[in-house]
Amino acid sequence: MGSRIAVNSIWWRSLAVLGMLAVTGAAVVLAKGWEAGLGVVVCALLLLWLREQRQLAHLRRWVDLERKRELPPAGGPWEDLFAKLYRQARESERQHAALTDALVSFRRAAQALPDGVVMLNDANQILWCNGQAEQHFNLRLDTDAGQSITYLLRAPDFLAYLAGRQWDVPVELRMRSGGQLADHILSVQLVEYGDAQRLLLSRDITKIERLETMRRDFVANVSHELKTPLTVLAGFLETIREVKLPARQQEHYVALMSEQAERMQSLVADLLTLSALEADRGPTGDAIDMSVLLARIEAAAAELSKARHTITFTADPNLNLFGSETEIASALTNLVTNAIRYTPDGGEICVSWSRIETAQGVYAQFAVSDTGIGIEAHHLPRLTERFYRVDRGRSRGSGGTGLGLAIVKHVLTRHQGRLEVTSSVGAGSRFVALFPESRIQTRVPDTHGDGERRDAA
Ligand code: ADP
Repeated sequence: MGSRIAVNSIWWRSLAVLGMLAVTGAAVVLAKGWEAGLGVVVCALLLLWLREQRQLAHLRRWVDLERKRELPPAGGPWEDLFAKLYRQARESERQHAALTDALVSFRRAAQALPDGVVMLNDANQILWCNGQAEQHFNLRLDTDAGQSITYLLRAPDFLAYLAGRQWDVPVELRMRSGGQLADHILSVQLVEYGDAQRLLLSRDITKIERLETMRRDFVANVSHELKTPLTVLAGFLETIREVKLPARQQEHYVALMSEQAERMQSLVADLLTLSALEADRGPTGDAIDMSVLLARIEAAAAELSKARHTITFTADPNLNLFGSETEIASALTNLVTNAIRYTPDGGEICVSWSRIETAQGVYAQFAVSDTGIGIEAHHLPRLTERFYRVDRGRSRGSGGTGLGLAIVKHVLTRHQGRLEVTSSVGAGSRFVALFPESRIQTRVPDTHGDGERRDAA
């Protein structure tokens, strides 16, 4: 509408100018004759034409400007038109800037996604991809844009997925070679959008897969551990029911059966401890009276050893620990029990509880040294894995569940502590639980003799 008015006004003005020129020309003809009149009209037309050319030159220069900051100089009918052009140019600049901003923020959002995104056209050529996708598929956007994804991602499972067009479920790809994510497992899905374009989405599911494998292994291990004593129990029960046995033999069978039942009981107890450790939110900050706890552990050790070993306990009476008493009791008892179980009769076991200062800092240290069978070095890194045993027969024979050190590690981690093991086959082992200074509570000895005990964290 506006441009129509501008065009109309140009027409009317041009007609008015021509009219004025005709009137002036006629006046000059009347006054000075034909030649003079014609000369004036031609000169005036020439001037008008030059003026139009000048405006056109301005317009051309202005059109070439990258940013149209101001209006080109204009006069007469051109002024309206230029103002209109100027407004349109500014509006389209604003729209362009808004679109650029939207594109930039879309790309930033896509870059921030934890998943990989590759935009493909209908010929599966890469239009764009984010940083995660570059890592997942070992791509480089600057060199690979325009390439077909089938040249770059040649895993047969992916090519079959692409050709199969069953894209509503993702496919799992094991990335075996190339890139930082070799040996990783990706969940990859194609999603169609817009005009036959495709999004290739990828997610690293290595951790989830590993957890799933661990869960499967765990269930298999537990079933296996329970199956053996259950089979033994069932066998004995059947024998007792079907065969009339002499009283002594029957007693012997019952003793063996209760041994198997105990084995299952301790396995279930350890499993419950582990699951409680996993479900619980972390230990409280209450101080544990370590003198009392250590006395309890010492008594339990003496009972288990039945004087077959020489056991010595040395403890700093003023060193206490902030944490969960049940958890710490379970972890420390496990270490002492293992020392007794894996040390032949006549061996020595030394248990100490002390404050130590190292280059890394101050720690509360619970150390158990034995002169037992020892452990070969290659087993040491795996000792705290669930159901890991150096010698299955010996572990089971001495009532082991294979979960003791897994519980110890769990408890120490929950108390920001760590386990250190040194061992030499045939000479003995040393298991050390270290707790950080933040967990230490130092009890100030009672120097006033008033029986009052004061604590300092
Ligand atoms: P288990 O119930 O079998 O003892 P643990 O998790 O407590 O399970 O220990 C894992 C393995 O570490 C044991 O099977 C045993 O082989 C080894 N082990 C643990 N403590 C000692 C020790 N003090 N001396 C020798 N070997 C040990």
